[in-house]
Amino acid sequence: MSTSAYPHLLAPLDLGFTTLRNRVLMGSMHTGLEDRSKHFPRLAQYFAERARGGVGLIVTGGFSPNIAGWVSPFASKLSSSGAAKEHRQITDAVHREGGKIALQILHSGRYGYHPFSVSASRIKSPITPFTPRAVSTRGVEKQIDAFVRCAQLAREGGYDGVEVMGSEGYFINQFLVTHTNKRTDEWGGAYANRMRLPVEILTRMREKVGKDFIIVYRLSMLDLIPDGQSWEEVVTLAKAVEKAGATIINTGIGWHEARVPTIATSVPRAAFAWVTKKLKGEVGIPLCTTNRINAPDVAEQVLADGCADMVSMARPLLADADFVNKAAQNRADEINTCIACNQACLDHAFQLKTASCLVNPRACHETELNYEPALQEKRIAVIGAGPAGLACATVLAERGHVVDLFESGGEIGGQFNMAKRIPGKEEFHETLRYFRRKIETTGVKLHLNRRITAEDLIQGKYDEVVIATGVSPRDPKIKGQEAAEQSGKVLSYVDVLLRGKPVGKTVAVVGAGGIGFDVSEFLVGDGHSPTLDLKVWEKEWGVTDPALERGGVARGRPQVEPPARQVYLLQRKASKPGAGLGKTTGWIHRAALQMKKVEMIGGVNYEAIDERGLLITYGEKRENAQLLEVDTIVLCSGQEPLRELEAPLLAAGLKPHRIGGADVASELDAKRAINQGSRLAATL
Ligand code: NAP
Ligand code: SF4
Repeated sequence: MSTSAYPHLLAPLDLGFTTLRNRVLMGSMHTGLEDRSKHFPRLAQYFAERARGGVGLIVTGGFSPNIAGWVSPFASKLSSSGAAKEHRQITDAVHREGGKIALQILHSGRYGYHPFSVSASRIKSPITPFTPRAVSTRGVEKQIDAFVRCAQLAREGGYDGVEVMGSEGYFINQFLVTHTNKRTDEWGGAYANRMRLPVEILTRMREKVGKDFIIVYRLSMLDLIPDGQSWEEVVTLAKAVEKAGATIINTGIGWHEARVPTIATSVPRAAFAWVTKKLKGEVGIPLCTTNRINAPDVAEQVLADGCADMVSMARPLLADADFVNKAAQNRADEINTCIACNQACLDHAFQLKTASCLVNPRACHETELNYEPALQEKRIAVIGAGPAGLACATVLAERGHVVDLFESGGEIGGQFNMAKRIPGKEEFHETLRYFRRKIETTGVKLHLNRRITAEDLIQGKYDEVVIATGVSPRDPKIKGQEAAEQSGKVLSYVDVLLRGKPVGKTVAVVGAGGIGFDVSEFLVGDGHSPTLDLKVWEKEWGVTDPALERGGVARGRPQVEPPARQVYLLQRKASKPGAGLGKTTGWIHRAALQMKKVEMIGGVNYEAIDERGLLITYGEKRENAQLLEVDTIVLCSGQEPLRELEAPLLAAGLKPHRIGGADVASELDAKRAINQGSRLAATL
């Protein structure tokens, strides 16, 4: 009998020919290290740390079985024995740590960002510029052969199994639905024909790889596109997949082109576990559920509720390689929780940069960023307990330095204390919980409500001083602004988010950066968060039971609560507001505000503020003057660095370090702050 708080999560899973040590599957995630074998030593180290951290079964990022299936030109592919040999360094590293690893076979089909892409029919996807070639009837056979050969090569390369990617709108998924499959041969038409591709792949694959090899099939259970699969079809396919020899069925939610967020931070935790649960009892093999499961208690609950036999987590294991061990040792409060921001993982993958993690800059950098014990203990002062200061102080203390962390406010967190108040950004609380605990475990001496002076620091005779004092809001200096500030008509975002100052029913938000968007979301929702209420969230995004409507997309969507305020979101640039937000999340923020009827206006000049509202004009010629009659104007016009401590310290002969917003305020974000703080701390 387990004494752990997570008995379901930590129970071994007997697969007949092999046993997984627990119910955690590390979901497939492209890191950018898969594409060149010269990066395999890094990939090996990255996976080895997760294996050491206790993961039951690791699944690699996707490898294409052939050129046609490439995600992008020269992207990861496994199609030769020579290449399979190179994989040994990865599989050996994982096995040395007692882990198991499966290779994901990913054929992109029409999602391939290259001219050689193929699909069921010649229909371009809305998210790629290339139109795929429709594979011939014989060509389908060739693609199947490539899948089967890839699985054999994976076995040769030492993998414990493969995952066949059948969801997210990739090649196999494209055959399954009439939206993308208009074929008239035996691979199109009736569902029995459309689902023949995955069934043939799995049947022939099982024959070739033998009985003692894990085959996970990632099954699209909720397509979230028009003309997606019906629930009856999903169940039919699941049964056929089992019969064809799959070992585990993993859950796929939403095609990449779906206009419903599926993994972003504003998606409720475990929002799609009910979909996997619908399939329980229909098949005998283990089911794995996925999406927005980021904490052991959430995972445990999902399993205890009988939604699935395993949980897939990808990003949470980027954020903390030791997730499983910490849960097993009842140290869940020490887990560095994935906040589902996508900023350093998915957004990097789309920009063809190596993935990492906003809250854990070591992710995918395990071979070069290490927090080794310090050779010589130093006394170090860190000023400012925002993300940069917190990361720096805790890494320094972890390495054995004696660290004083000074914070002028009454709590740690800096800008995160505003972010956590935005509906849909509740996960930021977790990062603050993590750092609070990390301060305790590493022994950082935290001094709250302490506005330290340069004199104090000089007197303190520290070996090193780190300035992480952050930023102050930029003043846009609009005519009439000062007088309106006195009357409370003009507020800064800090007044709104931290100080709870009253805001009227009509509002102009000056500045459409990340914070302008956040403030707008806060104001239209009046603080209520659909993220904390699955039913409301599903209504807003039009998600429904696939047994009721194909693909789980509700007709007549969206059903949105009316906005609490009328908001104008303004910027001077003529470009689309929100263009600078994250690649994978910007569209969600824009869509959320559009649903709440926020008017986003670019290309404006702020002419004047008076008791009636904000006067704007348009373009360089300052034409078409328009008075926005608003009760309140909220300034979100960026930030300036706060570093007044620096000059006196330099004058006294000290050489302070500068990190985070205090260093560079423009486009400062938490990713850069935590990365910079951690990297500096690794070197002192
Ligand atoms: P920001 O992204 O730099 O945006 C500042 C906004 O103010 C811009 O829209 C800019 O647009 C406007 N602006 C700049 N100078 C101005 C001036 N003198 N007068 C009037 N308007 C001016 O800064 P932020 O919104 O404060 O965000 C700070 C950082 O936090 C950013 O890096 C942001 O990415 C990050 N953040 C990210 C998220 C997220 O969801 N990923 C959320 C919150 C914050 P114009 O110059 O065109 O007017
Ligand atoms: Fe999670 Fe953000 Fe880290 Fe990605 S970058 S793993 S979403 S915390």
